Amino acid sequence: MKVVSNPHEAYAHVSHWRREGLSIGIIPTMGALHEGHLELVRRSVSECDITTATIFVNPTQFAPHEDLSRYPRTLENDLEGLRDAKCDLVFVPQNEALYPNGFSTYVQPPATAEPLEGVFRPGHYRGVCTVVLKLFGILPATVAYFGQKDYQQLTVIRRMVEDLNVNIRIEGCPTVRESDGLAMSSRNLYLDAEQRKRALCLWTALTLVQRLVQEGQRDVLKLEAALHDQLLVGGADRIDYARIVHPDTLADLQVVDQPAIALIAVHVGTTRLIDNLVINLATNQ
Ligand code: AMP
Repeated sequence: MKVVSNPHEAYAHVSHWRREGLSIGIIPTMGALHEGHLELVRRSVSECDITTATIFVNPTQFAPHEDLSRYPRTLENDLEGLRDAKCDLVFVPQNEALYPNGFSTYVQPPATAEPLEGVFRPGHYRGVCTVVLKLFGILPATVAYFGQKDYQQLTVIRRMVEDLNVNIRIEGCPTVRESDGLAMSSRNLYLDAEQRKRALCLWTALTLVQRLVQEGQRDVLKLEAALHDQLLVGGADRIDYARIVHPDTLADLQVVDQPAIALIAVHVGTTRLIDNLVINLATNQ
């Protein structure tokens, strides 16, 4: 596996493979890799001739009060996991390589970036879109794999790629969960044993609304109230949002008369956790 930190070198490798007509997968990450990330890598390895990954804790997607400096960094482990998963090239740039002195161009994200995370993390998707577009330029892959764990991010990236005519296919991959249902996340490393138990409230609340819909409750306000109650009963310290919205546009819904998406963001201790679930009208999705 090639480990490359220079953008020109990374471009040279990937554009060479591309000229040979090979299919190339890219998996952008911020490191602290877990099974969720590695599933994306394995999916790419099974579908593409070449698999590339990136590890970069992108400062422009963190607000000043957020966890940039304490974000977990486990590079040696990450490289081992990527090697085992048969990744061909990993791009690990320094900050200055992506944001040199004088850097001042940003992507204005699409409208789907405005609600939900956009309200609680202003500027977040501007940073995400900017770095993802840069990474697509540095590693000109044919297909990019993103997790549904970050559902809004996936819709934002899909829209950006369409709106800006970026020549890459976007694939969304199912959320990988711990055996009790907690979505795997690098931020789970922050949780102590007691908080880890309370963190299960996200999954409990999501599966509760799924059940309520299947039992016939279709009123979104009532379903959102149930989400809130279950999150607080289950141990969330603070709720940023707990919403049921249109799965593509993320627009408000009054009734669930079509598949919808439930999205939540809560704080457990000082850790902010997000999760989501596609809500289907009938069992056997
Ligand atoms: P991150 O390192 O958190 O920026 O995540 C990098 C990629 O991995 C994103 O596309 C995430 O959606 C995806 N990802 C993170 N956690 C999971 C998970 N539990 N299951 C599936 N994909 C995930």
